[in-house]
Amino acid sequence: MAEPNRLKNRLVPLELYNLTRRNNCGEWGRQTCLAFAAQVIVGKADIDACPLLDTAQIHELRERLDEQIRSGIGVSRESFEKTMEFLREEIRKLNFSMIAESLGAQITELGGQPALIFPYFGDPVLVTRSDIEKEKGGGLSPWEKIWISNYVLGGAAQPSGS
Ligand code: SF4
Repeated sequence: MAEPNRLKNRLVPLELYNLTRRNNCGEWGRQTCLAFAAQVIVGKADIDACPLLDTAQIHELRERLDEQIRSGIGVSRESFEKTMEFLREEIRKLNFSMIAESLGAQITELGGQPALIFPYFGDPVLVTRSDIEKEKGGGLSPWEKIWISNYVLGGAAQPSGS
């Protein structure tokens, strides 16, 4: 059973991305701030690698990241299934009708289950209570599924307006 606080305190790529300068300066060794955020969350880059993050922030974020890593959430490819199991469980609790509008999604049905459908880089995705897939078939990488799950779970919160 998932612990609500773990989800609440979980550091997600977009949150980290929003703390970067978003200038894609490349000083961390690769090109974009978004890639930096995604890589840090899955344990593939160190949060210290960005020289432009605030030191006090790094300290606080590192504590949260360490906890996630200990829980096995979003750490490595091996923990993907564990992460998705956790995220699916959270998605199952959502009322799709209530969050569809804030996600820019429409409600549809897939295999007798309610599903959300929304644009994704010109190739719409379907989110059911048990999986995420492209409308036209074809694969989504593990990281894309995690990313999309985070987007859906974020839609369950009050929009921040940013
Ligand atoms: S070093 Fe920081 S600001 Fe520069 S691209 Fe990386 S994350 Fe963005």
